Amino acid sequence: MKIAFIGLGDIGHLMASHLAREPFELTVWNRTAAKAEAFARDHKARVAQTPADAVRDAQVVITCLPSSAEVEAVLHGENGVLAAIRKGAVLIDCTSGDPPTSRSIAAELGGRGVEFLDAPVSGGTTAARAGTLTVMWGGDATVFERVRLVIEAFGKKIVHAGPVGSGDALKAVNNALLAIHVWSTAEGLATLAKAGVPADIALDVINASSGRSNASMNLFPERVLTRAFPRTFRLALLDKDIGIAAGVARDQKVPAPLLQLAADLFRIAHNALGEEADHVEAVKLVEQWAGVRIGGTK
Ligand code: NDP
Repeated sequence: MKIAFIGLGDIGHLMASHLAREPFELTVWNRTAAKAEAFARDHKARVAQTPADAVRDAQVVITCLPSSAEVEAVLHGENGVLAAIRKGAVLIDCTSGDPPTSRSIAAELGGRGVEFLDAPVSGGTTAARAGTLTVMWGGDATVFERVRLVIEAFGKKIVHAGPVGSGDALKAVNNALLAIHVWSTAEGLATLAKAGVPADIALDVINASSGRSNASMNLFPERVLTRAFPRTFRLALLDKDIGIAAGVARDQKVPAPLLQLAADLFRIAHNALGEEADHVEAVKLVEQWAGVRIGGTK
């Protein structure tokens, strides 16, 4: 099966690595060509010069880009996907996108006989490396069956969320919850640090109690207490995701002040820490506001 993979970023290159083998025939394209060339040195893949060149023969096209805006950008234009994609192909968008844009892309592709699934993923770079991502997809079940093998190459828990756009909505809400857990755990631990309770002791109790979360159980012990803050998922992308979740709530006329507050806090953190910061580094802003450091040496 001929696959084109577009977007070899932090998570995209790990997902693509599972498709660089039989029964797949992989072509990759990345805006920064050096990344695609480095990928092809380590994996069985052809490097395309343009998105059009990548998709020309592909039965399945996968996009994994920062947001739906970049997916739109690679579709359109002189050497864009739409210039060459085959009738009968399926585009699987693994971007954490936004539902309205995904619906409009699906309609545009549908007019050309191309099927579309939004299929964002969760589990981070660890699950991407292991090929055990959770995939939440939106779209038609008959289309999914045609590409099941492809999604199973990098996914383990694979869930139909609903019609096109539902995968994006679910992903955005999940990530808004992640953001709220990171921020609220930081506020709690900063407060306790000032009250004389060290973060490792606080986490030992919280992780055996009802305040625990993935943030308290994994992110804080591995990344904050150690002060390692590895870059696995950019803060800029989490900012985008919470904005999408708050937008879905607004569209659905659901009062969601906490989602909106989280969107504002992570926008502030993104502005303060820049494009390359990891999402867990938002903790540093809470520390700055509190005038205290959570864990690590002073
Ligand atoms: P990165 O920021 O690491 O990579 C983004 C990719 O998109 C790069 O290949 C980049 O190319 C490309 N790109 C950016 N702008 C454009 C453009 N205008 N035209 C063409 N290509 C462009 O993102 P991730 O790989 O981390 O994330 C990809 C998606 O997956 C996002 O939607 C993210 O929210 C989601 N996600 C990420 C997770 C993670 O742990 N990292 C976890 C779950 C979901 P270039 O190399 O040239 O910069």
